[in-house]
Amino acid sequence: MSKIEEKLGVNKYYVDEAVAHIEINENCGDLTEKMKLVNACPASCYTLREDQTLAFDYAGCLECGTCRILCGNTIVKKWTYPADTKGVEFRKG
Ligand code: SF4
Repeated sequence: MSKIEEKLGVNKYYVDEAVAHIEINENCGDLTEKMKLVNACPASCYTLREDQTLAFDYAGCLECGTCRILCGNTIVKKWTYPADTKGVEFRKG
């Protein structure tokens, strides 16, 4: 386990299973845009499948907003903070 994984593993995540606070356009075919998210998300919420489609899981999101800034007009179609007491609780740093 890397140091970053260790640190992220200390956080608590109260995932809203009913409502995704981030939604993406899975039909975007622009590999450059997709790789921005794969490379920049600090929690590795974005991964590229073998067929070069984008996989996304908001469960480990740190709510940093990086994906919204990078691809808010191409891939990220909805970005909000999780509702009420949902989302990440930072435990370290
Ligand atoms: S807000 Fe930050 S942590 Fe969450 S999916 Fe976007 S880049 Fe990743």
